[in-house]
Amino acid sequence: MNSFPHPTPPADRFGRVHTDLRVSLTDRCNLRCAYCMPAEGLDWLPRPELLTDDEVVRLVRVAVRRLGTTAVRLTGGEPLLRRGLPGLVARLHALDPAPELSLTTNGIGLARSADALREAGLSRVNVSLDTLRPERFAEITRRDRLADVLDGLRAARAAGLAPVKINAVPVRGVNDDEIADLAAFGAEHGYVTRFIESMPLDAQGAWDRDRMVTAEEILRRLGERFDLVPADRRDNAPAEEWRIAGTDAVVGVIASVTRPFCGGCDRVRLTADGQLRNCLFATEESDLRALLRGGADDAALEAAWRSSIRGKGPGHAIGGPEFRRPERPMSAIGG
Ligand code: SAM
Ligand code: SF4
Repeated sequence: MNSFPHPTPPADRFGRVHTDLRVSLTDRCNLRCAYCMPAEGLDWLPRPELLTDDEVVRLVRVAVRRLGTTAVRLTGGEPLLRRGLPGLVARLHALDPAPELSLTTNGIGLARSADALREAGLSRVNVSLDTLRPERFAEITRRDRLADVLDGLRAARAAGLAPVKINAVPVRGVNDDEIADLAAFGAEHGYVTRFIESMPLDAQGAWDRDRMVTAEEILRRLGERFDLVPADRRDNAPAEEWRIAGTDAVVGVIASVTRPFCGGCDRVRLTADGQLRNCLFATEESDLRALLRGGADDAALEAAWRSSIRGKGPGHAIGGPEFRRPERPMSAIGG
């Protein structure tokens, strides 16, 4: 029987209630997207520092039973590189109460694992795809793997994962001419296509505001090809969504930089090495791994979690004089 039927989710000083958890399962990746990491990759976390499956399950159990977490997204790095991922998903799905489980992936290997992930209890998947042109894909990601990603998308849909969303990061002079093509591709195949403003979270520190394609520009480019009608959206969802008139197709824009949604943020992040981050842009972390490995009980883990949320700042200030890049890049935080 569930002894924690109605836990109160942690609220911060600004009244934001946190029910959404992102768990990074590895900082490693098999692509090298230029807006994310350098060609040579990064100094990956040593394996003993990574949370084990047992440790991930323990922390997510505390989250769902004691902290009111209702949704868990698995990410990375590339989460499909985590060995035995379907087994871990099955263990998370078996928790009581079971969280809604989703995955953010570059799609490589998804063709092989989509059925097993669906059977294990995964509901939804977001696949990152920035271009439909093979040579351009190889330039952006430094790997010639477009066909694997497209296979992965098809397999996800066939496995019954729904919705399947495409995440694209437009970069000026790289793929900004493909915004409408990506939306049309999504519409044709039944994927929701979402465009994300690039953020200063690349490992190289090369982010350049002038190369970021703003939400306004994304919408202008979409508007040149489609009639867009505002779509119903969930509160707190970072994506603003539109329906392509006369169709069921949905496109979204995540304007993290030009229209920050920090005021409605309900997210907390757990890194692959067990650090809790109350914000993508947090400059401080709470070391849950040290607590876990030091023998802390669930109440102590819950208390550390709540304390982290209480310390959450109002939001990022990208572009402002007080903005500080977090030490970890996106790939090591969990996007
Ligand atoms: N490897 C998986 C993938 O690519 O989906 C999961 C991790 S990746 C860090 C998660 C998301 O972050 C991807 O959609 C990726 O496009 C996005 N991303 C990476 N670097 C970014 C940046 N500097 N600005 C905005 N989005 C970024
Ligand atoms: Fe890997 Fe995802 Fe970063 Fe691309 S965006 S390098 S797929 S972690």
